[in-house]
Amino acid sequence: MIQDKDKEELRVRSIRNGSVIDHITAGNALNVLRILGISGITAAIVSVAMNVPSKKLAFGRKDIVKIEDRELVPAEVDKIALIAPEATINIIRDFEVTQKKSVILPDLITNVVRCPNLNCISNSPEPIYSKFKVLDSFALRCDYCETIIDNDIATYLI
Ligand code: ZN
Repeated sequence: MIQDKDKEELRVRSIRNGSVIDHITAGNALNVLRILGISGITAAIVSVAMNVPSKKLAFGRKDIVKIEDRELVPAEVDKIALIAPEATINIIRDFEVTQKKSVILPDLITNVVRCPNLNCISNSPEPIYSKFKVLDSFALRCDYCETIIDNDIATYLI
């Protein structure tokens, strides 16, 4: 008999090597790809499942992203925490899960979101990366002008 959990897994084909990002807040799969710098022009083979039933997440829905032949590094994993605080990352080698990690909010993020304040020095033509203190997964504070982003962080992703 196929268990519910297995059924969930079957919605996206299994991969030999790469990363599986599971328990993404529903609706954020494409934002996760954006954070990872994956677009239609990159060579990565990516499978995306959206609005998959989930018992663990609020509203009972989640997104899943599978990226073949790429193992996410900790800095990438941490950025995902901004928009999908309950995400889990599985690193797959030869069809086996070799590492399972939860995302951890970083204290500071650089060059990930742009400051909403147009007069902020990070928006000037100067070669200055945006820098935000992470207050929690739903609030960031610009390190230069102290502008706070406390809703819809995804719209400010660079
Ligand atoms: Zn700013």
